Amino acid sequence: MLESFPNLRRTTCPYCGVGCGVDAQLSVASDESGKLFQQLISVSGTPEHPANFGRLCVKGSKLAESNTLNNRMLYPSIKGEKVSWDKAIATVASRFTDIIAEHGPDAVAFYVSGQLLTEDYYVANKLMKGYIGSGNIDTNSRLCMSSAVAGYKRAFGADAVPCCYEDLEQTQLLVFTGSNAAWTHPVLYQRIERAKQINPALKVVVIDPRQTATCDLADLHLAIKPGSDAAIFNGLLHYLDSQNALDTDFIQRHTEGFVPCLEEAVQWCLERVSEFSDVPAAQLRQFYQWFMHARRSVTFYSMGVNQSTSGVDKSNAIINCHLATGKIGKPGCGPFSITGQPNAMGGREVGGLANMLAAHMDIENPAHRALVQSFWQSPTIANKPGLKAIDLFDQIHQGKVKAVWIMATNPIVSMPDKDTVAAALKQCDMVVVSDCAASNDTLSFADVCLPATGWSEKNGTVTNSERRISRQRGLLAPAGEARHDWQIICDVAKQMGFSGFDFQSSCDIFNEHAALSGFENNGRRDFDISGLGHLSLRQYDNLAPIQWPITQFSPEGTKRLFTDGRFYTASGKAQFIAIKPELPQQQTDDAFPLILNTGRIRDQWHTMTRTGKVAQLSQHIDKPGLHIHPKDARKYLIKDGQLVKLRGKHQSEQGNEAFCLLTAVLDKKQRRGELFAPMHWNREYASHANVNRLVAAVGDPISGQPELKAAAVAIEPW
Ligand code: SF4
Repeated sequence: MLESFPNLRRTTCPYCGVGCGVDAQLSVASDESGKLFQQLISVSGTPEHPANFGRLCVKGSKLAESNTLNNRMLYPSIKGEKVSWDKAIATVASRFTDIIAEHGPDAVAFYVSGQLLTEDYYVANKLMKGYIGSGNIDTNSRLCMSSAVAGYKRAFGADAVPCCYEDLEQTQLLVFTGSNAAWTHPVLYQRIERAKQINPALKVVVIDPRQTATCDLADLHLAIKPGSDAAIFNGLLHYLDSQNALDTDFIQRHTEGFVPCLEEAVQWCLERVSEFSDVPAAQLRQFYQWFMHARRSVTFYSMGVNQSTSGVDKSNAIINCHLATGKIGKPGCGPFSITGQPNAMGGREVGGLANMLAAHMDIENPAHRALVQSFWQSPTIANKPGLKAIDLFDQIHQGKVKAVWIMATNPIVSMPDKDTVAAALKQCDMVVVSDCAASNDTLSFADVCLPATGWSEKNGTVTNSERRISRQRGLLAPAGEARHDWQIICDVAKQMGFSGFDFQSSCDIFNEHAALSGFENNGRRDFDISGLGHLSLRQYDNLAPIQWPITQFSPEGTKRLFTDGRFYTASGKAQFIAIKPELPQQQTDDAFPLILNTGRIRDQWHTMTRTGKVAQLSQHIDKPGLHIHPKDARKYLIKDGQLVKLRGKHQSEQGNEAFCLLTAVLDKKQRRGELFAPMHWNREYASHANVNRLVAAVGDPISGQPELKAAAVAIEPW
């Protein structure tokens, strides 16, 4: 009997895009009736997992402590009243069906999450795009890395991340831009730290307005004006050209569009870049020389690049420099975007973004649409991109989208302009929320609440930032009446009268996902895992971490892309993109004289619904602080530790009197005129601390990613 209760299970961490392997130590207990059940005792890093080799960061190491039934949703409810699953499913299905019949498929939407497993994501996307017939499924990954996706697609013809984690250790020059990896991707940072100890010649450059913890490893820190990254990289391209340091053979054989790109870049001499970015010319020259002399370099970028009204251009400005020097597709080389969410990559693979189809196919490509529909044998297929996150909540606010199903995310805290998002949900005809938390800021607007399984109960796959698919394994029985997200979605789909959702297990879904990736694929599509074949339940359970593409020619997976210099564009050549650098859309004025940068801290995750439960994770930083340079603090009569009231420029333009209250932290590592505040705090841990309410809902015109890093604000002592 006890054999069915293993005391060790291997799974993955649910917090960030590093995707660390986790060994979960389990024990067996019995309840009052003598029924045996499994308990999670502790976790440690999986020694053999290629992402972390046994390491875990502070958040990951406290997974067992955060895995409690405290604030856990245990049963379905409608308007606060407990109901049966049958009733909840029937209510969701009938309201969606009625609204679609009356107003059309674009009157409904799903807003999902990089917390979902790939199998959950797959069926949600299939239901919305192939059966309801709308593109209206978007995800909180839109807030995380959609600019990087669009940058890769423009340059490489596909959302294809070229690098692997080994490249971070094998490089000669590592450039962090828009990333405080020491806090946000700690295990990767630890790997780089170790690589630098072993090889002190490894140079590290950090490009960031703030002197963050990541700068502890830096040989050079460029404290740029917020949002000026593209100018830095245009200037680098110009400098390399002026020094005859370009790889002209690579440019000629493997790329297109170089001449117009360079014409733009040559306008960015050192002096102009220095003026635009506020970085001394000597520091820029040092960085440019190191890049020129390094045979291998990696540019590691994250939210600081992506969360911008010109995030896609910044991403392409980085890629241009790697293409121009041939520093791609080789060990220790490449532009490497690192995702924030544990399964943002898996969501991308199944088409969880409103502008994508399944298996990295394009919704605007008629051949791709026909292919996916024919594979699914579905009654319809979305024929245009759906609404991206900002537009989605705007259309809900305008009453055009009348029903929304939010899965595993808390947009009231994470979206910009939270007051408009809250107003949108308040007047929406039907808000369904499936979550494992019993209460959070978003759940308070739900008409129907559906209890979903949490990390220790879910069973499926995730893909980390280096394209590595790993198993997240179920450790414990579902709490209360919780069901897996894929089961809930399939039950609603079947109740709506759709076939194609008769899956018995997450393994069934994974097999369909893998088969679609190889369906009529002649090697021109990047995402292909069909080489895994059709997995049995046992093979699926034992699936070892593996990097896609996985084809009949690469059954062991693929460490690095573009090693042969061929890209996924029609011509097979990578595309240079001419970039005109721009600063953030929102700038200061007399009334709102400071720029607020929002971001993450070391020990909290997202909106604190899980990490907030663990007292030790509040020991590092226990309250939402507002980092301000001491001279600015003096100017605004603010003392260290004092409460500060912040008002946003965009709120003022809307006539909104709402404000935030944060505790001043005097910090010489801030640039003058700029502030930093964490985005995690929700109403349960501190009222008036949700700083995203101060941020305008403006995004990149291509990716739609919101500009969460630059809001003009006014401050005063409270
Ligand atoms: Fe989890 Fe990321 Fe920490 Fe690894 S680095 S343990 S994936 S939070």
